[in-house]
Amino acid sequence: MRISVDPEQCYGSGDCVHRAPSVFTKVGGLGAVIPGREHDLDLPRVREAVEGCPAAAITVTRED
Ligand code: SF4
Repeated sequence: MRISVDPEQCYGSGDCVHRAPSVFTKVGGLGAVIPGREHDLDLPRVREAVEGCPAAAITVTRED
């Protein structure tokens, strides 16, 4: 499973960074996954960030 942020949907609210600062950051004013943390979905705060994104811009995709 891989976490990603769709820059077309994100509007830079920063909620994801606030909820899970070990995984999300802001780049150019938009939310982004910190390189190397794309697979840290097990952390409860990350799930909160995915579910709580007001723009539904964070997606989790299978990689198999
Ligand atoms: S919570 Fe969603 S809209 Fe806000 S910065 Fe993160 S990805 Fe973008």
